[in-house]
Amino acid sequence: MTHMMHNMIAKNGQADLHIHSVCSDGSMTPEAIVKYASNLGLSAISITDHDNINAIDTARQLAGHYGIEFISGVEISARYGKNELHILGYFFDHREKELTAYLRFLQEERIKRAEKIVRLLTEYGMPMNMNEVKAKAKNGSIGRPHIAEVMVDLGLVKTYQEAFDSYLGEGCPCYFPKFKISPSDAVRLIGHAGGLSFIAHPGVDLSLEDLLKLIKLGIEGIETIHPRHTSTQISHYRRIIREYRLLESGGSDCHGERKQSSPIGKYTIPYELVIEMKERLSTDMKPE
Ligand code: AMP
Ligand code: ZN
Ligand code: FE
Ligand code: FE
Repeated sequence: MTHMMHNMIAKNGQADLHIHSVCSDGSMTPEAIVKYASNLGLSAISITDHDNINAIDTARQLAGHYGIEFISGVEISARYGKNELHILGYFFDHREKELTAYLRFLQEERIKRAEKIVRLLTEYGMPMNMNEVKAKAKNGSIGRPHIAEVMVDLGLVKTYQEAFDSYLGEGCPCYFPKFKISPSDAVRLIGHAGGLSFIAHPGVDLSLEDLLKLIKLGIEGIETIHPRHTSTQISHYRRIIREYRLLESGGSDCHGERKQSSPIGKYTIPYELVIEMKERLSTDMKPE
């Protein structure tokens, strides 16, 4: 049996609902992601770019061709106290006006912020050009990872990590925060566009108290399967899911080769959980 055949059997009936493309900070194009996932035999995928939905049209079209289900997705950065919280949205209408207007506004804010950081770095004796940063981001969400790559290219730092540790990270001299929506507004936007909201990787740094507060906001589910979750955490979140009748999601959080990250399909959820999401969508739809 070939490796491919083996994978086909292993991944059939599985879904990876957390993947980043070049439209945010992943290294794979939407096309490459769909092809890779279909070769694995996955039943469904979602591309969940940070604050960006530009991958959806291409990916959905190609997914139809390859016979794999594509679920619209996004990973929205929200502010939570002084922390950042990631909210995954699925199944929304990616052409809905309020959602697209918000994401467009955010893209503009990200460009302004990148310009500020570039100015700070230049003042700090590390001149660089905004065009170089834009070239790294292609048509995706421009951010600090792209600035860090330019710094490596220009020899201003030895490594990508050094750029964050010395200049771009929180508390560093060239740090500049980005605009973030509130969790309740993020949930409302996703819901208004007909989608479902999930708390992304709560095990990374969310307290139980904060998790319960977010559930009260109307979050529909929790991401349980994630490379950074331990099996103890997964069981813990599953108990909460049962108690509050929430939905369960998960995926690889694949960023391709840009960061050390898990490959597509390494962390998956059974397709039955996708069916539960769809059932929730159909019972939630009430005539206005
Ligand atoms: P941005 O959206 O511009 O704030 O960039 C956020 C991204 O930068 C994260 O998704 C990480 O990939 C990366 N990042 C943030 N902080 C660090 C850090 N301390 N070390 C390495 N990468 C980081
Ligand atoms: Zn990312
Ligand atoms: Fe995240
Ligand atoms: Fe992610």
